[in-house]
Amino acid sequence: MSRRSPRSRLGDHLDLLSSRFPFDRSLPEDPLSLVRPFSPDRRASEIAGVLASTLAVGNVRSIRHALTSLLERMDGDPGRYVERFPSHRWRMELHPWKHRWIRADQMGFLCVRLQEIYRRYPGGLEEVFLTGLATAGPGAEAGARFASGLHALSEALRWGSHDRSPTVFEPPPGYLALFPTPFALGHPACKRACLFVRWMVRRAYPDLGLWTKVDSSLLQVPLDTHVYWIAYHIGLTRRRSRTWPTVVEITDRLRMFDATDPVKFDFVLAHTGISGDCPKRRDPAVCAPCEVRTDCDLWKGHSLRPIASSGVAMTAAPLVRGDRTPPVRPSRRRDPEARASSSAPPSRARRGGG
Ligand code: SF4
Repeated sequence: MSRRSPRSRLGDHLDLLSSRFPFDRSLPEDPLSLVRPFSPDRRASEIAGVLASTLAVGNVRSIRHALTSLLERMDGDPGRYVERFPSHRWRMELHPWKHRWIRADQMGFLCVRLQEIYRRYPGGLEEVFLTGLATAGPGAEAGARFASGLHALSEALRWGSHDRSPTVFEPPPGYLALFPTPFALGHPACKRACLFVRWMVRRAYPDLGLWTKVDSSLLQVPLDTHVYWIAYHIGLTRRRSRTWPTVVEITDRLRMFDATDPVKFDFVLAHTGISGDCPKRRDPAVCAPCEVRTDCDLWKGHSLRPIASSGVAMTAAPLVRGDRTPPVRPSRRRDPEARASSSAPPSRARRGGG
């Protein structure tokens, strides 16, 4: 019998985590659940998806509340709203809507940009993304090609570098920062744009699979705080910043488990953190059923020990000589976020950052 490498064992563990994951518990918390009802209408889905992903900062409940409120102000039909924008009442319709630092006038300008994109590109946002992909050149790696697609998408949503036609509004203050590009200074992770493209491209549940010309093998992981924390602690990266190079490194590692669908674990990893299934500290009661516990840095050098007489099912015990689990890594190799989390459990319902 051949011995399995640690790498393939992690792939098996992630598969197990995914196969047992309660998607139906977590999907209602995810902004994607408010986009899915539009899926018979591709344009409305794209617009609802752009709105949802743009608002995907902070607590999932506040994201859902803000998106629901915005869609209601669009009479529940974002496709038609964008098509007819601006009505003379648009400021009254959208104001005083606000989500954290994102304002109604910025959403109004986004409607202007979307309207112009659909006028110029019959294939909509997928066509814009493909235009960017084509600029990367045939020899470019997946991360670089995807970054070029995101860059084109970002530029078109910001101010239309492809067409440069005049619009009726100037971008309001703070608008351009809503659509970062991987090529910007500091190479941001562009989590929200990666999330939007994942929703549009992946065909497997719960994603929508509406973009049929973009290969799912190119997708890059939407790197939020939860995904990053778990990815770091199961050894998918040792980078300490959530930037584009980290996105590419994690995705390249995940591609070893499934070359055709490297981001298939994203929803599961994100919602493992959002739901509190991962306490981000060594908690025997919560970590006991975790499928990636043997891969997790926090459990290196520790095992579970049942306590029959107590109400607590398990306790963590340091491994004695002879255990095959590798020793604990030096704590200085962990990132500051991880150390902070080990003493203070994270918020149970955030999908922030990016
Ligand atoms: S073992 Fe615990 S801390 Fe580590 S990933 Fe699993 S749930 Fe999170």
